[in-house]
Amino acid sequence: MDDLSRFCCLNAGCPDHGKRNHGNLTVPARYGPSNTRVRRCPTCKARFSERKGTPLYGTRLPAQTVESVLAHVAEGVGTRKTARLAGVNKDTVTRYVRQAGEQAQQRHDELVALSPRTNELRLDEKWAYVAREEKICGPDDRRRGDCGDHAALDLEARLVVSLVVGKRTEDATHALVRDFHRRTGGRVVRLMTSDEYSVYATAIRQTYGQVVTPPRTGRPGRPRQPYTVMPLAVTYATAHKERKNNRVVGVSTRVVLGTWWAVALALPASAVSRVVNTCLVERYNGIDRNRCSRKVRKSYAFSKDGDTHRAATAFCHFSCNSCWPVGTLRERDADGRWRRRTPAMAAGLTDHVWPLAEWLTFPGVQRK
Ligand SMILES: [Zn+2]
Repeated sequence: MDDLSRFCCLNAGCPDHGKRNHGNLTVPARYGPSNTRVRRCPTCKARFSERKGTPLYGTRLPAQTVESVLAHVAEGVGTRKTARLAGVNKDTVTRYVRQAGEQAQQRHDELVALSPRTNELRLDEKWAYVAREEKICGPDDRRRGDCGDHAALDLEARLVVSLVVGKRTEDATHALVRDFHRRTGGRVVRLMTSDEYSVYATAIRQTYGQVVTPPRTGRPGRPRQPYTVMPLAVTYATAHKERKNNRVVGVSTRVVLGTWWAVALALPASAVSRVVNTCLVERYNGIDRNRCSRKVRKSYAFSKDGDTHRAATAFCHFSCNSCWPVGTLRERDADGRWRRRTPAMAAGLTDHVWPLAEWLTFPGVQRK
């Protein structure tokens, strides 16, 4: 019997839209050389291919070829190399990367809609570029130039909770902090850290601060303006790199929001570090550059198109959350044997390592 629990109705107007494991779908027919199933929702009578919402939808290539293409991309192989190795056109690789990026974003929005275990946040931005570096862009190169990853990382689980891809602007930073706030249910996490980029403090103040409107006194004169009060639990510290002759010779901590006392209490409770430092996030950035060929420094595999860059970034970050076990996250099971865990498992969002083939055949749903 086919397992239909991972599928759901994809009709946005249906009351059962997006409800997985609902037990209502049927398989009235199959089609194509791969005997692909057609799913039918009895509520709205709509029919869908089981591939809809996945990178396999509408492909004329065998599923194994598409999976091979995306497996190469996920391993950090460039577009043209992937095309030669898989025996397809480079534009075909690009098309699958875009579809996989869209699906990965939808899967992330569903899987990390709420991350209840996140306690330690690290904000960071990683530089990359599209087509050419910003410093050599002309006035007409609005879609080219620097295009970095703004990431909110759950340090203990190594989970990418939020990601904003784009130019290093205040808007991108504010969007990142707002997205993290939403995905943690508005909860104040134990400790927030970042580098010296001052916009983070403003974004945290705006997002977590509570606006207080003073009551009208009834006396003549201009009423007092509303002001923002930070919750006492918000603790935000930055790691400052001290350089000598362009080399980092030390890292010092500065408390920006909250107190030294709160930071001193938060660090011993951390599962990963006793000091505010940059090593975990730098390690993560190194891994990401290794797995996303277009971010390898000084290579010809850099991104040529912004939309593909964003899709590849989403695919690499979000599939890594679920498909790549992290060595230091392993734990012993009840029998005393080591159990490998991915960031999503460590964050309590899933119970197994997702093989890439399973990830790619899991339909994404466009949520409202
Ligand atoms: Zn339906």
